[in-house]
Amino acid sequence: MRLSQFHLRTEKETPADAEITSHKLMLKAGMVRKLAAGLYTWSPLGLRVLRKVEAVVREEMDAAGAIEMAMPSVQPKELWEETGRWAKFGPQLLKIRDRKEQDYCFTPTAEEAVTDFFRQEFSSYKQLPVNFYQVTTKFRDEIRPRFGVMRAREFVMKDAYSFHVSDDDLQREYRNMYDAYTRIFTRLGLKFRAVFADTGAIGGSASHEFHVLADSGEDALAFSESSDYAANVELAEAVSPGPRPAATETLRRVETPMQKTCEDVAALLGIPLQRTVKSVAVTGDDGFVLALVRGDHTVNEIKLAKLPGLADYRLATEAEILEHLGSTPGFLGPLNPRKKIRVVADRSVAAMADFVVGANEAGFHIAGVNWGRDLPEPDDTADIRNVQAGDASPDGNGTLALARGIEVGHVFALGRKYSEAMGCTVLDADGRAVHPAMGCYGIGVSRIVAAAIEQNHDEAGIRWPDAMAPWRAVVCMINPKGNAEVTAAAEALHREFNAAGIDTAFDDRGLRPGAMFADMELIGIPHRIVVSERGLAAGTFEYRARSAAEAEQLDRAAVLARIA
Ligand code: ATP
Ligand code: MG
Ligand code: MG
Ligand code: MG
Repeated sequence: MRLSQFHLRTEKETPADAEITSHKLMLKAGMVRKLAAGLYTWSPLGLRVLRKVEAVVREEMDAAGAIEMAMPSVQPKELWEETGRWAKFGPQLLKIRDRKEQDYCFTPTAEEAVTDFFRQEFSSYKQLPVNFYQVTTKFRDEIRPRFGVMRAREFVMKDAYSFHVSDDDLQREYRNMYDAYTRIFTRLGLKFRAVFADTGAIGGSASHEFHVLADSGEDALAFSESSDYAANVELAEAVSPGPRPAATETLRRVETPMQKTCEDVAALLGIPLQRTVKSVAVTGDDGFVLALVRGDHTVNEIKLAKLPGLADYRLATEAEILEHLGSTPGFLGPLNPRKKIRVVADRSVAAMADFVVGANEAGFHIAGVNWGRDLPEPDDTADIRNVQAGDASPDGNGTLALARGIEVGHVFALGRKYSEAMGCTVLDADGRAVHPAMGCYGIGVSRIVAAAIEQNHDEAGIRWPDAMAPWRAVVCMINPKGNAEVTAAAEALHREFNAAGIDTAFDDRGLRPGAMFADMELIGIPHRIVVSERGLAAGTFEYRARSAAEAEQLDRAAVLARIA
């Protein structure tokens, strides 16, 4: 690419309205320009980087057996009403109306659309498993779009959706995707970490997020230094009895017929309850959380979840709980007194002992649970402040360290939430119609561009990892006298590098060396080769790696060896 025929427009001044480094550098380098709040135009330069990220994502998704497709950005209300998400997704869902007064939304994610495609295309278990993916523009009307493309309203997401006849097969694919994500972020040259996460508005039973580690990250991560335990601190809120803003529809459905206060639960257990008890969770001996009850005896809320090792959070149905308890219908009861029951109480529960003693006297085996040791700290403000570095890891291995992260990927084991809601079935081996289990797997392609800059920059600008650089190398020509030999040598080098598979730009804009080098450093090209009259006379090229302090004089073969 001859830069004289490209469009580069860098800026010397640091933009005043940008808060974090990546946003500043993307504007200075001219990668994006703002159109409106949360809406960005990608310049030719920015688009090259975005395409590089997409290419790695596509290669690894293809290699992992996923199949690319594309679904519409604009989707009808009726489709979203089948799952209830038209109403429940909340204000992030941008709704639009056409000339016939029909309602549509701009897709923030595509579970409904892919399930609709699946139910038209698939009929037998023999066709499964299958994993479809797309790399398309998504829209979320974020309450606070900020940091440029990091939290935009329109952004590029790779989203994949898998379908399975069995839960085991879903687990296998979940692992397959987890491994593919690990390869993607490794190839992109990012320092990252996978953590247990909440399933949010998408729902489902298990999820892991992939975070690029950076101090500017919006998420707080806690991880054990002696085991694989790592969690988004948001999860502390998810497993604590605090109210969740992104409560799923399942939660609401369960709540309505089963609202109980702490007092109700205490009454059921036949034990006294102190007024200081703000919230309790009742779990079975296998870690199955039977109920989370919250409220100063006024707010009523119950959450039911399964929490083996905290990795797996989901809402249970009343039938499942009753089956688990082996009891007759009715809320949680009559409980089987021989069953071991664990009560989880929040920190303010000074009088928890009474509850435990009373319950034990009533024939239940109850332990109080130590927050921060047995479960992450409950955190009503969803703020990291309550979890301290050095706290015991919830998995019992070592202590917690804290880090900040940028969420760049998220894998979910969805289960049958969408296939059931949308009446999507296939015939199993016995000819019965069954709802396929689903997984979904997202990557924030455009966010990755910003996240990579947060990790890779210096005073001069961006320092792209090789895989994401707009060009891997640039041939810079210094030729103020218009010497034909110099031009020919630079052109030849540019041609040869590209022929050798090294994506190379040719800076033939005729800028003074200082300005040219500053541009190339700002836009972060990993390898720079200078062709000049002086070098040509000496039979050398000036080579400098973006990360190196000094330039070197090398011959052609040595330059190639450095870049390849
Ligand atoms: P966040 O917690 O940052 O709001 P999310 O959990 O809502 O993200 P998911 O529904 O998991 O996002 O979507 C998959 C991926 O899409 C995320 O992991 C993230 O990388 C990306 N993403 C989500 N929202 C945005 C946004 N507003 N701008 C850019 N990328 C986004
Ligand atoms: Mg979000
Ligand atoms: Mg998130
Ligand atoms: Mg997420």
